[in-house]
Amino acid sequence: MTTLEDRPVTPTPTAGATVDEKQARQVAEAAREAGWHKPSFGKELFLGRLRMDLIEPWPTPDPEKTATAEEFLGKLYAYLESEVDGAEIERDARIPDEVFHGLADLGAFGMKIDQKYGGLGLSNLHYCQALMLVGSANPSIGALISAHQSIGVPQPLKLFGTDEQKQKFLPRLAGGEVSAFLLTEPDVGSDPARLSTTAIPVEGGYRLDGVKLWATNGSVATLFVVMAQVPPSEGHRGGITTFVVEGDSDGVTIERRNAFMGLRGLENSVTRFHDVFVPAENVIGREGQGLKIALTTLNTGRLSLPAMCVGAGKYCLAVARGWANNRVQWGLPVGQHEAVAKKIAFIAATTYGLESMLTLSCLLADDDRNDIRIEAALVKLYGSEMAWLMADELIQIRGGRGYETADSLAARGEKAIAVEQLLRDLRINRIFEGSSEIMHLLIAREAVDQHLSVAGDIIDPDAPIGRKVKAGLRGGAFYGRWLPTLLVGKGQIAGGYARFGALAKHVRYVERASRRMARETFYGMARWRGKMERKQAFLGRMVDIGAELFAMSATVVRATAEDRPESRELADLFCFQARGRVEALFDQLWDNTDTDDGKLAERVLDGRYEFLEGGVLAPPADGEWVATWEPGPSTVPDLRRRIPKRSV
Ligand SMILES: Cc1cc2nc3c(=O)[nH]c(=O)nc-3n(C[C@H](O)[C@H](O)[C@H](O)COP(=O)(O)OP(=O)(O)OC[C@H]3O[C@@H](n4cnc5c(N)ncnc54)[C@H](O)[C@@H]3O)c2cc1C
Repeated sequence: MTTLEDRPVTPTPTAGATVDEKQARQVAEAAREAGWHKPSFGKELFLGRLRMDLIEPWPTPDPEKTATAEEFLGKLYAYLESEVDGAEIERDARIPDEVFHGLADLGAFGMKIDQKYGGLGLSNLHYCQALMLVGSANPSIGALISAHQSIGVPQPLKLFGTDEQKQKFLPRLAGGEVSAFLLTEPDVGSDPARLSTTAIPVEGGYRLDGVKLWATNGSVATLFVVMAQVPPSEGHRGGITTFVVEGDSDGVTIERRNAFMGLRGLENSVTRFHDVFVPAENVIGREGQGLKIALTTLNTGRLSLPAMCVGAGKYCLAVARGWANNRVQWGLPVGQHEAVAKKIAFIAATTYGLESMLTLSCLLADDDRNDIRIEAALVKLYGSEMAWLMADELIQIRGGRGYETADSLAARGEKAIAVEQLLRDLRINRIFEGSSEIMHLLIAREAVDQHLSVAGDIIDPDAPIGRKVKAGLRGGAFYGRWLPTLLVGKGQIAGGYARFGALAKHVRYVERASRRMARETFYGMARWRGKMERKQAFLGRMVDIGAELFAMSATVVRATAEDRPESRELADLFCFQARGRVEALFDQLWDNTDTDDGKLAERVLDGRYEFLEGGVLAPPADGEWVATWEPGPSTVPDLRRRIPKRSV
């Protein structure tokens, strides 16, 4: 079990208090996993050190586990193909009860739960492969299974639960009961410091009060992971704390099922807790460790979402191939017109690159030799952005048919290919489980961790002079050793990395670009010092460069292991495309409109350009931007959907 004993409690403002920028950042900082106990390819990459030894040779999964997992994946495939009607789920905005039952029978709700608790005990790799498959039947089922296992009750219990908690809850979840993760509130999105749901200590446990927004699976779940503020008091250290809450507890009301642009089958709720008793034994970890638990859970939990993005890439590729071969315009199959061919090549190369990045991250997580928090975050960010681009390009390749719904296509006698749905379903991936903006900040924080640990006090305005002096000495020693290593490297040696054959040139490029990235980061720090954390565009570009370099490294190692011309061709093109993006990002680091954009945005917010909004109907004047809510009992009917027990 991962232990949290040695970690400090997250300092949190009192529930409902106004939270300023500094406090919000302190909360996020305290929730970080501070230590680096294992090597990290990503961390080294951002420091200008390409440690290929950490990712090669391509790890081989355990053959016995693979055989068992493949048997399961085969059954899952057969079930999804024959029994699940993805179009029906889209039409009815509902996953039928029988699908819940069928998936439960296969063990899909317990894929990540250990066998001793009735689960399948799949590795990260096989779990992600299953998610990819499930998501291809209908992305709402992918979201159901992934929210249940990656952020719902099983994963935090696996990492931080007591034996009693595991014995009590995991067999239920492996058997098909659904769980949900409830952090977000109307006033709490990316910034958890504003959390206002409270858990007041009472005899034998806590009383929970608050309203949670957008809980995926919330309307069907029988067990919730709930994040709530415990106010400090005698015998209670307080802070944001994680609870397992029975969905059927008195005082829990599902007030709404929310509807979205995509993922129409999602059972996503507004959940009210009014005076809900939660026994003390249902606290996961300790009081005050809630955000750390959530973030640590996401270290590997973040791999599930990009798994479904890889699945989307594969589907885009299959549709692009079929369509672009068969649709003839201007005397040629459209795939032979260069403008379309480039899009096909982008989809193929990106799917290969993204799959390599995801598979490698899963294998590293399964090996447990490396710290993969940076890699998992990079795959989430890159996967969600790239899948969106691939689906958008596919719409263009399909022309008008890309914009037409599957039902409408089928009614005209054409293949029911739901590309517009794919685009709608994919969009949320750039927002939830860490929006792209927040992922940029989170990864950038990890990328500069070494700098902050040696020289952070120099730029900290609150640090006393004594600490600044010590940091100056520490920094001098570190930078004296480190900076010269950024000047020359193996990437400059013709013939370096020869073991990668024709792909070696890309590894050399990654090595050079990694040092350049580290140098640019240092220049940025030297120039902006403490203000660098506000240079989000600069940091975002740096993180995007890191993502491309990680993707290239993973792709080359995989293609080398696969040792076939097809893989090398895909890897080669992916790397060339990625290099183009990296060069553009490097150029934009210092040649951009960031400052002007910031100034202009400020004036927009001040209303200076209101005239520009004229000529169209104005947005609604009624309603609030963020709805307020009052504590107290619910005044609306409970909309909980109960999945009936199967009749035997
Ligand atoms: C379909 C769906 C399912 C969801 N499922 C769950 C779930 O199961 N459980 C759960 O707890 N939550 C869930 N959520 C909530 C989701 O995690 C949040 O939407 C997400 O965290 C973003 O928060 P927000 O929407 O409030 O955006 P806000 O935090 O209001 O952000 C608005 C914009 O500002 C940007 N932004 C915010 N802060 C910063 C900053 N410091 N720097 C730069 N940019 C910033 C954001 O990236 C975004 O672009 C779900 C949401 C949806 C729509």
